Amino acid sequence: MRIKIYDGAESIGGTKIYAEENNEGVFLDFGVNFEKMNLYFKHYLRRRAVRGIYDAIILDILPKIRIYRSDLIPHDLSISNFERINPKGVLVSHAHLDHFGEIGNIRFDVHIGGSPLTLLLIKAMQDCNHSSLIGDAIYSSLRKPKDDPRILNAKNRSVGVRHLLLTEQPDEKIIQFLCTIPSPTKKDEYEENFKIGDIGTLPFEISAHPVDHSIYGACGYKLQGDTTIAYTGDIRLHGESGNDTEEFAKRARDASVLIIEGTRLSRETHDYITEKDVKEKIRKEIDGAHALVIVDFSSRNFERLKELLEISPREVVITEKDAYMLYALQQAGIDLLSKNTRVYRALRGKKEKWIDYLVDMINIDEIYVTPEEIRNNPENFVLAFSLTDMPNLLDIRPKGGTYIYSSTEALNEEQELDFVTLYNWLTKFNFQIRGFFRKGGELVFEKGYHASGHASPEDIRKIIEIVDPDKIIPVHTLNPQWFKQEFGKAAEIIKNGQEISF
Ligand SMILES: [Zn+2]
Repeated sequence: MRIKIYDGAESIGGTKIYAEENNEGVFLDFGVNFEKMNLYFKHYLRRRAVRGIYDAIILDILPKIRIYRSDLIPHDLSISNFERINPKGVLVSHAHLDHFGEIGNIRFDVHIGGSPLTLLLIKAMQDCNHSSLIGDAIYSSLRKPKDDPRILNAKNRSVGVRHLLLTEQPDEKIIQFLCTIPSPTKKDEYEENFKIGDIGTLPFEISAHPVDHSIYGACGYKLQGDTTIAYTGDIRLHGESGNDTEEFAKRARDASVLIIEGTRLSRETHDYITEKDVKEKIRKEIDGAHALVIVDFSSRNFERLKELLEISPREVVITEKDAYMLYALQQAGIDLLSKNTRVYRALRGKKEKWIDYLVDMINIDEIYVTPEEIRNNPENFVLAFSLTDMPNLLDIRPKGGTYIYSSTEALNEEQELDFVTLYNWLTKFNFQIRGFFRKGGELVFEKGYHASGHASPEDIRKIIEIVDPDKIIPVHTLNPQWFKQEFGKAAEIIKNGQEISF
């Protein structure tokens, strides 16, 4: 077996690991490398869709390999010297963009594999986001040069569909959700080309095992060829399903190679805050509040939302996009939609197609809440809003309240600037802020309002000790040396573009 890491060895995210034997292989994740992306792009500055993969190739955001869709290769990009490999599929560990977001660029005969929940979430995110090349993992508008062969326009009604390979047999309702899309113009072609199978058709003997992370559906993989390797994806032990991660480690005992994440090995503070701690902290804040409360956490962190629904005596207001995600989850038997959940009715122009679809599927009028309703009884509501939802406050016009920041700390200057903007919105409406504050010109994060999606160094050590592999290959980390210090020769640091054979 040969393992080559194309990306994600020296960064947090952007993982693209290739395992190959007898000239056939699979990718373990194929995510967006946000560190590289952020060098050149920001919110309003994006890769140009009409140039296909051109921008990403020239800027070294995507590796130079011959696996990309021909309709995304403009005439002025030569791929003749790109490396030839033969992947049959991409196994996705979980539905975070830094693990699956670049799959949409790959040829459609390369399938996508994952747990039913992961594929369901990826599709739901795609359904309700504006189409861009990032994130179009399951289906995508095909492109065609018009007059100028360097410019690739989207062909009307023409959609490419990637076959789904599931780690286990899904319920009928999940298949129902996966096999149709909200776009009336592309629906027929999508349904015609939709195909579902299982990961058994991929090279290697593959088994998938659920692990705990900050999104539902995460799993680790074991690939058995002439060598057995295990890949963790992103993991933690301190969440709701921490036991799953430990169980995965036990199942991986026969693996001689362990590819493992090390997100938290580079941070100075190693405080151990669990999801339970966060839950209690937020409960206290809500109980003590008399005005509007906003809790800001990643909208894909459904475990956090579930906790919020459990502890909140108030109704929890989510956005329409979140409602779409919850509708998808409902198909998988996870019902967070028919609790004390309301959907914010934003003031906007025309309705998008996925909202029409959602209206058809759930009785949304019954759970819609208007800005006026919230303005008149702010003490009845908790809003699950974040920075991008702040303009809604202009319509709600709250007179003070509590804002709880319950998400990751800023990692770079650009993200810090976002907090200045957020701070300005909150002070404009006299909110008391928990979770972060500004001291002088500096941004300080208050501990206890957020638990990491990743394992602490102690837990990483524990997981490795359970698996007890011959070789440890660190990925998803800024501090691979930690593994050398802890495990000596067993740790093998493979840099981006390097490979190892067994
Ligand atoms: Zn993740």
